[in-house]
Amino acid sequence: MTLAKSSNLPNLAGMTHAQLREFFLAMDEKPFRATQVLKWIHQRGVTNFQAMTDISKPLRDKLDAQAEIRLPTIVQNFESEDGSHKWIIEVASGSRVEMVFIPESGRGTLCISSQAGCTLDCSFCATGKQGFNSNLTVAEIIGQLWWANKNLGGFDDVLERPVSNVVMMGMGEPLLNFEPVMNALNLMMDDCAYGLSKRKVTISTSGVVPAIDKLKDYTDASIAISLHAPNDALRSEIVPINKKYPIAMLLNSVKGYMASLNDKRVPVIEYTLIAGVNDHRQHARELAQLLRDFPCKINIIPFNPFSLSDYRRPSNTSITNFRQILQQAGYTVTVRTTRADDIGAACGQLVGNVDDQTKRSSRHLARKGVDVIAASSDVQVQADSV
Ligand code: SAH
Ligand code: SF4
Repeated sequence: MTLAKSSNLPNLAGMTHAQLREFFLAMDEKPFRATQVLKWIHQRGVTNFQAMTDISKPLRDKLDAQAEIRLPTIVQNFESEDGSHKWIIEVASGSRVEMVFIPESGRGTLCISSQAGCTLDCSFCATGKQGFNSNLTVAEIIGQLWWANKNLGGFDDVLERPVSNVVMMGMGEPLLNFEPVMNALNLMMDDCAYGLSKRKVTISTSGVVPAIDKLKDYTDASIAISLHAPNDALRSEIVPINKKYPIAMLLNSVKGYMASLNDKRVPVIEYTLIAGVNDHRQHARELAQLLRDFPCKINIIPFNPFSLSDYRRPSNTSITNFRQILQQAGYTVTVRTTRADDIGAACGQLVGNVDDQTKRSSRHLARKGVDVIAASSDVQVQADSV
């Protein structure tokens, strides 16, 4: 199915309920048409106006002439031995980004990308290493959820949808593509679209403080903070945005967002554990101390290796020790099990194919002695998938 042909017509796949209402009003049509079209696209997976049988034929013809429903194209599909799926989608800029579906008992989580590449260059992240090409549009972000439903049978039975949870933990920094991500979140949680609960939609951020400060005016989704270090000196080394927005400023901003939610949710602190970098017992103690007045859950993500990184995954003993210190200090701690690394889809391994606009990827490759011309093509995907 070719869904990505581009045109200048308004793309209804990327409009929120409110924007669709405006669209129909501007066409001199009744605003309830927005609800009908929203349900056709996002609850039944229909992209052809003529198949929308509760809409009159003249209006269907008018929509055919004046609008389109355009979603990104799926170009590759991988299935892991553990049942996870990774799909590579092509977006308008020509870049390829990845999304991952992870089935678990009682839930199915879809990990969605927000950007082709990332500008932030965290030292342990494959996406960061490949530089940045473009922000995804709303249709390209929500299109990932649409495609997961399409491919996994989610449009056959609205009550039995395979994707129960969405995490914005794919490629890119969601808060640096603010408005499209907010609109896509709105669609995910709209009862006439995907109807996901605010508890089951999570934005993961490396700490873009001004965006967190304004988040409450746009969404009430759950939030995860990629902390990865217990002090500014170490965090600035591995998460460069920390130089601009240090830990105290970040935690304060997150506190403000949590207060606005007015419920019992707490943020998740993500901590990618890297052997010899941030996995010492002293780091765990320092982290316990740092977060003492900050209600949260802690999620340890053992580092997932990729070809351009010299970092190593810590031993199981270090992971257990780190977790125990935090648990003994009273924290709820989970250790993320590695899923889908046989298809290069584990956390931090996502690379797609990004025509880097920042030239960062060639610098990293040159440092590793890799032929830059060869590595800037599909070869990069292969290298990280094995
Ligand atoms: N930009 C956002 C969301 C995408 S990254 C963020 O940084 O939060 C999603 C998660 O994967 C983050 O917690 C990130 O730190 C983690 N991650 C990145 N690279 C990783 C790697 N190689 N191994 C394990 N986790 C990694
Ligand atoms: Fe970007 Fe997140 Fe990767 Fe950092 S960890 S480079 S913010 S995608």
